[in-house]
Amino acid sequence: MIYLNNRLVPDSKAVVSVFDHGFLYGDGIYETLRAYDGVVFKIEEHIERLFNSAALIRLDISKTPETIIRAVNKTGKANRLSDAYIRITVSRGKGPIGLDPALCPKPTFVIIANPFHGYPAAYYKRGVNVAIVNTRRNFNKSIDPAIKSLNFLNNILAKIEAKERGAYEAIMLNYSGYITEGTISNIFFVKNRTLYTPEVSVGILNGITRMAIIGIAKELGIKVREGKFRPAHIYGAEEVFISNTTMEVMPVAKADDIKIGSGPGKITKAIHQEYKRKVAEYVKQQYKA
Ligand code: PLP
Repeated sequence: MIYLNNRLVPDSKAVVSVFDHGFLYGDGIYETLRAYDGVVFKIEEHIERLFNSAALIRLDISKTPETIIRAVNKTGKANRLSDAYIRITVSRGKGPIGLDPALCPKPTFVIIANPFHGYPAAYYKRGVNVAIVNTRRNFNKSIDPAIKSLNFLNNILAKIEAKERGAYEAIMLNYSGYITEGTISNIFFVKNRTLYTPEVSVGILNGITRMAIIGIAKELGIKVREGKFRPAHIYGAEEVFISNTTMEVMPVAKADDIKIGSGPGKITKAIHQEYKRKVAEYVKQQYKA
């Protein structure tokens, strides 16, 4: 079942107009969430970011955060899902051809909830390969990467390049040549027991997982530095990993064919373990409440 505007409808009935500006212009926003044992992790943070993306494109979602949270849970339940991938999409809505958002009186609101089967265990055991691609991350004064927008061509072009180079994820630089993020992930590296990650101002989506990881590292007594980094920092790192809501913490084995350490590093593993522990604790608390 799909949640479309204000009701649950079967897949086959979940249709959107060809005049929807999400389809015509990529005018809209989205969020990806993950449910564990029927509990959506960090749902408040995701909804807050959804509203932040909406504000950045002057989109009125016309729903309260509480209504959206109820709708997400309802969609998960209707599909009898335990471990789920959930996507909330809000587009500008249906309107005549033309760029003016005022042409679309009502946003289109969709929630998809599918079973989540996880990533292959080998990805975590051996790590994945990344390529630092030629496609630059959108300049943050053009389309701010802080907007989790439906307009994903920047990331898709980078992904195509990564695939052509046999890499799992593309890492993009900004216009000044600083490391930003992956197409669907944030990046971290470790050197001398310090955890480094690009600062938000270089033009990234401030991942909910990224923020959780920074908190976890500090709790574990690991120094954290957010800053501006070059490809050489990644090549010379002892450990590298990428993160997002569904993959959590994914070790990187190679960057541009340069081997990183010898398999997933100690700090990467410790952070991932603690992340999983926090998820389990959160799920338990939700069941108690
Ligand atoms: N950066 C980009 C471009 C993304 O699309 C995503 C998530 O899909 C992330 C970073 C990670 O964000 P989060 O940890 O909130 O899933």
